[in-house]
Amino acid sequence: MNIRDRYAPSPTGLQHIGGIRTALFNYLFARSKGGRFILRLEDTDRTRSEDCYVQNLYDTFDWLGVKWDEGPDTGGAFAPYIQSKRSDLYKKYAQKLLDKGQAYYCFCTAERIEKIRQEREASHSSETGYDRHCRAIDPQEAVKRAAAGEAYTVRLKIPLGETTRFFDHLLGDIEWKNDDVNPDPVLLKSDGFPTYHLANVVDDHLMEISHVLRAQEWLSSTPLHVIMYKSFGWTPPEFCHLPMVMGQDGKKLSKRHGATSIDEFRRQGYLPEALINYVALLGASYEEGKDIYTLDELAACFNLEKLNKAPAVFDYKKLEWYNGQYIRMKSDDELASLCLPFAKEAGLFCAGSGPTQQQRAVFTAAMPLVKERLVFLNEVPGKIAYLFKEPEIPAAEEFIPKKSDLESTIELLRQGLEIVKQLAEMPDDEQAENFIKAEAEKRNVKLGDLMMPLRVAVTGSRVSPPLFGSLRILGAECSQTRLQKALDKLSSA
Ligand code: GLU
Ligand code: ZN
Repeated sequence: MNIRDRYAPSPTGLQHIGGIRTALFNYLFARSKGGRFILRLEDTDRTRSEDCYVQNLYDTFDWLGVKWDEGPDTGGAFAPYIQSKRSDLYKKYAQKLLDKGQAYYCFCTAERIEKIRQEREASHSSETGYDRHCRAIDPQEAVKRAAAGEAYTVRLKIPLGETTRFFDHLLGDIEWKNDDVNPDPVLLKSDGFPTYHLANVVDDHLMEISHVLRAQEWLSSTPLHVIMYKSFGWTPPEFCHLPMVMGQDGKKLSKRHGATSIDEFRRQGYLPEALINYVALLGASYEEGKDIYTLDELAACFNLEKLNKAPAVFDYKKLEWYNGQYIRMKSDDELASLCLPFAKEAGLFCAGSGPTQQQRAVFTAAMPLVKERLVFLNEVPGKIAYLFKEPEIPAAEEFIPKKSDLESTIELLRQGLEIVKQLAEMPDDEQAENFIKAEAEKRNVKLGDLMMPLRVAVTGSRVSPPLFGSLRILGAECSQTRLQKALDKLSSA
């Protein structure tokens, strides 16, 4: 069997976690089977579909590095892959169902439908959906009315009294009584546009989709779709409805839990590898104890039988952990390139276009100082701003170690002038550490008490990236100048 699956988003919003999970699972499934992965834009809802969301979709997947084999931008044998460009096809297939007596014209006005809804509400009726009013109209009569210009929709004529069955790769055998399926839903709207159901089924058939992997919220539409395949006389694809993605509180993942749109993750400084790795393992477990997977590895082990039935819980902390891991795998050069846009945006290099050559060199040199503890790329500018701009000199108390006083601190800083010079010229951390340890011993002060005032003077804060590396980047002269300024301020305090 030729494996073909698809991601079929409606461009009515930004790409979010749930969407890329569906896309990724389809991508991995196709890859694992040597099949093809297709992108199809389901933009039949003309009022809610917007070009900016299509652009967002392309940008997102470009950033993620996930590519489809066929799609609106790449083309393919089943083009066009945009439903709004396939309108004639849907009309043709709706007509086929009309001709076979599997669909019928409905002339009900929006007012009539609304009136039924209100009456049901008033009488607390549990009935929902269409009341099948026009199903009884004689087909020849209906054709005449339609031809005479009366507005109509086309509805599916669900065979009543039967049961629809299908197999779901995750949920097993599913049965649904036809009488309980959405009563005769609209296939073709009065403006001639198809509904989701018609376009989705027609396209999955025409595009020879073998497997439909989609979120579980679509499960209730599937019996209807299976009925439609039967009405057309087509074989339905295989189905796998993916478990919902929940927040830690067991509710559907939403803005309340944190970022959900991929743009937000991107702006925060997530790496695409981290997002892919984490999302691909949402609700799936492969090798015990293995967390880090490349896209190729994921494709190699993807297996529908390994997916969990239970809802997947989205754990932001775990995603952060992944991000840290992938950040640490980057070389200093790579990391610098990735962080550069964040630094520019934060104004790290002052006004003007970008970093000067020297600033760029400092920026790269600073990467080893932050890499080990970094969670998000956007933290970088704040963490290393002191390497680009003299920090403000903090208040005197900030400099004074516990159990010490202003006078001794000033004295330490004065002696520190020579110490920072030496430190800045040390070739590596180890030698710097040996040197400063000896200096602390000589003075009979704790190592921390010696380093703290130096750190505050040079970086402007008690908490900063490693001091020795910072001094080496700043150089002896600049380090001494900062110390001197701190000394001046403290002496005049
Ligand atoms: N257009 C639907 C969506 O927005 C597609 C559902 C499906 O995969 O059938 O998710
Ligand atoms: Zn009607």
